[in-house]
Amino acid sequence: MKLRAHHLLCLPNFIGEGYSDAFTVNMAARKRQLAAEGGFTLAAGADDICAACPNLRGEACETQDKVSRYDAAARRLLGLEPGKRYSAAALEKRVCEEIFEKHRLREICGDCEWYPLCARLTGEKKEGQNT
Ligand code: SF4
Repeated sequence: MKLRAHHLLCLPNFIGEGYSDAFTVNMAARKRQLAAEGGFTLAAGADDICAACPNLRGEACETQDKVSRYDAAARRLLGLEPGKRYSAAALEKRVCEEIFEKHRLREICGDCEWYPLCARLTGEKKEGQNT
């Protein structure tokens, strides 16, 4: 399966909410597929999650500039390259250690509409909070 970099942050925080019923059904199915297959190929753009999203316009996202910025930041922090194949378990661990545990979600996708939910689920600190 194909996954874009910032969706590696969305998948662990998916609790059944999304842009439409078709989107959430597909997201749940892709999460099961990832677990069953154990790996994925990093997509440079739209992926198997975007495929059922009402925001997809052809090959691009309606908010392409924003999601491209999220992808670039996630690739940089996780050391990923489009087109390469990765282990799901290894990346899940890397996402936890390098992003969630270091409270770096905000610098990747702090202006996403789902950020408050993901910040709550990952225990991301609020701005100015040191402990
Ligand atoms: S909002 Fe954009 S990046 Fe996110 S799933 Fe939909 S099409 Fe893909």
